[in-house]
Amino acid sequence: MEKLFQQSIEDLNSVCKFTEEELMILDNADKATEEMAAPEFEHYLKHEVNLEAPKIAQKHGILGIPIKKEYGGLGSSHLIAVLAKERLGQLGLGFSSFYNVQVFLGALSIQRWGNEAQKQRYLKAAVNNELVLAFALTEPEAGSDPASLKTSYERRDGKFVLNGTKYLITNGSIADYIIVFARSKEKPTEISALIVDAKSYGVSRMPLTAKIGLFTSDTAMIELKDVEVPEENLLGELGKGMHVAYAGLLNGRIGVASGCIGIIEGSLNAVIARSKERVQHGKLIGKHQLIQRHIAEIRQNLEMAKWPTYFAAMQRADYEKDPNNRALMDEAELRTALAKKIASRLAFESADRAVQVFGGFGYSLLAPVGELFCDSRVTRIYEGADEILELKIASEVLGKGFEAYS
Ligand SMILES: Cc1cc2nc3c(=O)[nH]c(=O)nc-3n(C[C@H](O)[C@H](O)[C@H](O)COP(=O)(O)OP(=O)(O)OC[C@H]3O[C@@H](n4cnc5c(N)ncnc54)[C@H](O)[C@@H]3O)c2cc1C
Repeated sequence: MEKLFQQSIEDLNSVCKFTEEELMILDNADKATEEMAAPEFEHYLKHEVNLEAPKIAQKHGILGIPIKKEYGGLGSSHLIAVLAKERLGQLGLGFSSFYNVQVFLGALSIQRWGNEAQKQRYLKAAVNNELVLAFALTEPEAGSDPASLKTSYERRDGKFVLNGTKYLITNGSIADYIIVFARSKEKPTEISALIVDAKSYGVSRMPLTAKIGLFTSDTAMIELKDVEVPEENLLGELGKGMHVAYAGLLNGRIGVASGCIGIIEGSLNAVIARSKERVQHGKLIGKHQLIQRHIAEIRQNLEMAKWPTYFAAMQRADYEKDPNNRALMDEAELRTALAKKIASRLAFESADRAVQVFGGFGYSLLAPVGELFCDSRVTRIYEGADEILELKIASEVLGKGFEAYS
């Protein structure tokens, strides 16, 4: 495990020299991952949300990697956050999903779109694990087409009054604050992002536990019934909620891709160990050529998943310096879609190969590869399903006029 992670750093260090501070952050991510491994697996076996993991992450200071220092973060780059998250992904994607929403979709959205009061109020607390964030875009009837969402708001007595249902929301039942995307009842073309206090009257939440993976991550349905939200909780401009949503997804997709690299590394480490200890037909299975093919394929997958993801993170940094530059945004969106599409397919394929190398034991939640297999499947669905990313990639390549939908 150690060797592969170090390899990523060494490979990248030859391109973009890391500072001592950056290397220390990655060392801390390494320590957090090691400390998290046992409790994460224990909770996984019990199909229980793991609330110990965020505490360990906070202890090692990794919840605020890309958050500016004045808001309690480490002020580091997206690339360092991606490398840290890669490490976490080796444990499966339970905590990785929490991290993606807390940091990439939640805190980074507030950092980009929030006013000063909102940044002061939420960011330091999020970095310190004093509050949990969720990002509620999807609804029962609005998934790949989030702009068709039905959750509505009315303006009443200086407040927004929210009604609707949000579905499949990561951290949904453990969040303290939920970024909710809703449509104006008065002006239906207007969608806004609102920060909703989860304790507000009218918010009810139901954990969705019948998942086929991600057992340590909370996923929930959220009902909003006449929920009053103070006007100061508007995130970004009124009517510009989809800008907040799409910019959040841009961050989140790179985060998903880096978790996928972790899945591939985890798969590779597991098959290396297994193929050097399991004997069949009188020799170690690692000496059978067809097992070697699985190992070679997983190693190739690692190489193929890493570079588009690191490149997308670097491209994202250019875009962040000049967020109103349309060409940089298009390039960042293309790179991000490529990274997520490539890394998620390779993660699922690698975990599948790892199960194959483990044989019957691999088809068990008790084997580390069983967890990687179950968790990796969702990466081809959440934060932009494969098909949606394909359409995005094709339309970016073909240019204006070739969008498959508007
Ligand atoms: C564990 C988990 C956690 C999640 N966490 C969050 C969260 O924190 N916040 C949040 O807002 N959402 C979250 N989601 C929701 C997730 O983002 C959606 O599931 C995803 O966007 C797909 O939407 P859908 O499930 O409604 O599928 P649908 O939109 O119904 O799509 C079904 C199929 O049709 C395809 N399809 C749809 N439109 C087209 C088209 N135009 N052309 C070709 N194919 C198309 C899709 O690619 C897919 O294969 C989560 C989902 C899961 C499973």
